[in-house]
Amino acid sequence: AAKEQGKSRYVRYVEEMDARAVEHARLGAELRQALAAGDLFLLYQPVVTLPHGEMSSLEALVRWRHPERGLVSPAEFIPVAERNGMIVEIGAWVLREACRQMVEWRSRYGDAAPSRMAVNVSARQLRDPAFVRTVADVLRETGMDPGDLLLEITETAVFDSGPALETVKAVRELGVGLALDDFGTGHSSLGLLRTCPVDVLKVDKLFVDGVTGAAEHSAIATSLAQIARALRLQAVAEGVETEAQAKRLYQLGYRLAQGFLFAPPLPAGEIERRLAERAGDGSGLCDPPALAS
Ligand code: C2E
Ligand code: MG
Ligand code: MG
Ligand code: MG
Repeated sequence: AAKEQGKSRYVRYVEEMDARAVEHARLGAELRQALAAGDLFLLYQPVVTLPHGEMSSLEALVRWRHPERGLVSPAEFIPVAERNGMIVEIGAWVLREACRQMVEWRSRYGDAAPSRMAVNVSARQLRDPAFVRTVADVLRETGMDPGDLLLEITETAVFDSGPALETVKAVRELGVGLALDDFGTGHSSLGLLRTCPVDVLKVDKLFVDGVTGAAEHSAIATSLAQIARALRLQAVAEGVETEAQAKRLYQLGYRLAQGFLFAPPLPAGEIERRLAERAGDGSGLCDPPALAS
């Protein structure tokens, strides 16, 4: 009977895997059309300074407006795009659109514009031999200053493949900035800091969540702030949701943060509204105003 049960569990498992494979195949095919149909768009989440919450830079985050499913999250479709290779085209589109937008905001708002635009790059893109060329082409075509661009890569993406490290170095030579995203969640975080020429550490939400807890929960965020300072890297705290976290992060030495407390990913129009206000009165625009008090 145990064998029978085991067998049926196995059959159920296979059926579930099949269903998921079919679902992925369909999503993948639809994704191909989505790019052509203009159903992908970008939101921009501010990275803000601590303690005042002023917009410092932006991170471009892709969204898919699906005709029937509604808004599909990148957590759902990026893995599908990585598997069927569409991420190369989608990634190039995201890069071009984010750069075009940044150049427009620079020319319109001048010093009130954010200092940089961050764009996520997946492991698959780093393995594409044409990636460096794509970045160079986009910079030239859009007129983007390479220093205004920050590419966010994950440590696993670089660690898993030797060529990826070469690619990262070549991109760095174009004058583009590099951030290690979700820092601390991979298996080679600290080792990578010696070999990979990065400018920014994005400390994962996992560690930010612990900063208001007991010492053993805040230890990693504390150490990463010290490491960043010692290596002269900017540290960005990701996924800050409460004022208590922001205060503690500031005390620990974090001067940049990103999270729902300050602003969720916003449509371009909303960023413009805030930039226009800032250009007008010179004020900082993300709540809350002062955490230092
Ligand atoms: P990520 O690069 O680490 O981006 C941060 C994610 O955390 C975003 O989710 C953002 O909306 C979310 N977030 C920001 N603040 C908070 C907060 O306070 N609390 C919580 N719970 N979440 C917060 P999103 O936009 O759904 O993106 C998920 C992931 O999908 C990104 O993680 C990134 O790895 C990937 N992704 C998004 N856009 C792109 C893209 O254009 N290309 C590639 N390759 N990957 C992308
Ligand atoms: Mg990111
Ligand atoms: Mg991140
Ligand atoms: Mg993260």
